[in-house]
This record gives sequence, structure tokens and C-alpha cells, in this order.
Amino acid sequence: MSDQYGYAHLMGVKFINITEKRFLDDIIYPKLKNQEKCFIVTANPEFVVATRDNPDFKAIVQSSDYVLPDGVGIIHAANFTGQRLVERVTGVDVMYKMLEHANEHGYSVFFLGAKEDANKKAAEEAKRQFPDLIIAGRRNGYFNRLDPEISDYVASTKPDIIFAALGMQRQEEWIYHSMDKFDKGIFIGVGGSLDVLSGNVSRAPKFWIKFQIEWLYRLIKQPSRLKRDLKVLEFMLLHIPGIKRVMKWLGFSKSKPRQR
Ligand code: UDP
Repeated sequence: MSDQYGYAHLMGVKFINITEKRFLDDIIYPKLKNQEKCFIVTANPEFVVATRDNPDFKAIVQSSDYVLPDGVGIIHAANFTGQRLVERVTGVDVMYKMLEHANEHGYSVFFLGAKEDANKKAAEEAKRQFPDLIIAGRRNGYFNRLDPEISDYVASTKPDIIFAALGMQRQEEWIYHSMDKFDKGIFIGVGGSLDVLSGNVSRAPKFWIKFQIEWLYRLIKQPSRLKRDLKVLEFMLLHIPGIKRVMKWLGFSKSKPRQR
């Protein structure tokens, strides 16, 4: 990995400090053109806490080429710890930009993940929005992530870009264990982005994003997210100077390893 870019380190996860535009124009599009392989992780606070709780997952994330800050909490935590991340770069935005680029330059994409209905609708919607897009293939995300038949199948379609939307950790594990079967490909874990592309789930309106309270919008829409948002709170508290010691003292800073 080139060292011309700065990084912010949070709980052992190394985030690249770069704008979305430079990330795509200077790093990803040239790699696409040269048919290089690349593994991109998009991580939010909940994701980082999960890596702390699962060393195998952390090792996979650390083996990736780039980790992007997909959450304002990551940007604030970097600031709190005297580091800098210029902007939030979300998986869903990067996916849309890559679809647009693929549409213009003739690259093929594979949609892996989400429920069958959402996966199918996402592929149809992509084709509607980007008529020249080459869809190498699609597959819903409900399979054993180590099933070799799935990775053999995806590899056989020779996609230039693989959007893995299997949910955090599952998608990174799938990429990690499958990449060797491919000769080329930009692999990116995009979480619930196919649900957004399909239209089944809507993103927060611009107001909520602008005021950095997209998380609150999602919590109101989906109260079952409360448990996840408590992880975000834990992450934020752990990065406020001085709080770490208090949290440790209260017994909050370590939780049991979580296996999926
Ligand atoms: N998903 C999937 N396979 C699974 C579990 C989940 O394809 O075995 C999909 C799910 O349908 C959704 C996306 O992964 O489209 C994100 O799921 P979730 O919100 O649970 O993920 P996270 O927010 O943890 O990344």
C-alpha cells in the first residue's frame, strides 16, 4: 500500500485519510483499468467494536487494502485522538459512484448479497439507472459463506467489481476466503447497500445526513437497532480523552468475544 496517504488508527483498524473523489480517481479507477485485485472495507463504529471483540475478524480487516470511514463516529473519534480523517466515505456512495464509472467505461459488476427479492430488484434498478452497465451476475446472500460453489460461480463470471452485501463480517470473511479464485476484481463490502439500491430501504433524507444524525433517523425507523447503537456509544466514549480510564473502572471497556 502506498504511503503517500495519511491514516488514522482506531482500535487497531487503519483508516485511509482521503476524500471519496481522490480515493476513486487516484486509487480505485487506475486499479480497475490495470485489472488489479483490491479489497476495500467500509467500517463504522459498530464494525470497529466487532473487530475488537473478534481477533479473527480483525485480522481479516487488517489484511484488506483499504479501510474507509463509513460513519461520522469514526471521523469524530479520529479528531478526539488527535488524528485526522478529511471526510466520511460511505459504502453506499462509493457503490453508486463505481456503478456510474462502470456504466461509462464498460466494466462488469457482480451483486452478491441481500435477500433474493432485494438482490433482483437491485440489479434491475442498477440497469434502469445505468443502462449500459454490464451485470456479470447476481446472487442473494443466503448461503454458507464458505460454500466453494458460490465463490466458484462468482469467479466464473469474471466481474471487474464485486459488491459484497452480506452484512458486516460475513462479507469480509467471504471476500477474504474467495479472492484467491479471481484473476482480477475490486471487492468491496457494502453492508445493506443493495437494500438501498433495490428501493426496499431508503436512506435518511439529506437533512439528517447534513446534521450528522443519520444514525438517529435509522434508530427511529428501526428501534431494533438500539443494541447496535449502544456499541456506537461505547466506541465514542472510549475515544473521548480521559473517559477510557473511567469506562475501564466501571467495567465497560471489555466484552466477550463474539463469534458469527
Ligand atoms: N445478509 C445477507 N446474508 C446473510 C445475512 C444478511 O445477504 O446471511 C444481507 C441482508 O439481507 C442485508 C445486508 O446483508 O441486505 C446487511 O445486513 P445487516 O443489516 O444485518 O448487516 P450489517 O448492518 O451488520 O452490515
